[in-house]
Amino acid sequence: MAKRPNPRALRAARTYTIEEAATALDVSTGTVRSWVKAGLPLMKSQRPFLILGDTLRSFLQERAANGKVTLQADQLYCFSCKAARTPMGLLVDCIPQTPKTARLLGLCDVCGGTCNRMIGKGQIDQISRIFNVAMKDGPTA
Ligand SMILES: [Zn+2]
Repeated sequence: MAKRPNPRALRAARTYTIEEAATALDVSTGTVRSWVKAGLPLMKSQRPFLILGDTLRSFLQERAANGKVTLQADQLYCFSCKAARTPMGLLVDCIPQTPKTARLLGLCDVCGGTCNRMIGKGQIDQISRIFNVAMKDGPTA
């Protein structure tokens, strides 16, 4: 069975090139490129394209949860509960990640931990009809 990359090998505040991310996670660069194709956001403001450690970590955690957890329209994914949760008060921060994607952050209504969801910017209208969204500045805002 293939070993699952460990998101904790990444440092949240650092940026990685595709090669560096592959080395940190002990996977091939082809694997990292396949994540990019599957929706992992890249910071394209400079070359080589960079991946924020925190973004990659969230991506891998969501991916590990995929198939086990289906998020309803009003739910985020809680890292502590490892389950879909409704954020407290339906309050979420919307943090731009790339020109096309953003991340929603809220507080789990069960454990009070951080819950998270990646969205396309095109979904923001729809999302703001469900949640109380606070727009934040992000890495590429
Ligand atoms: Zn929770």
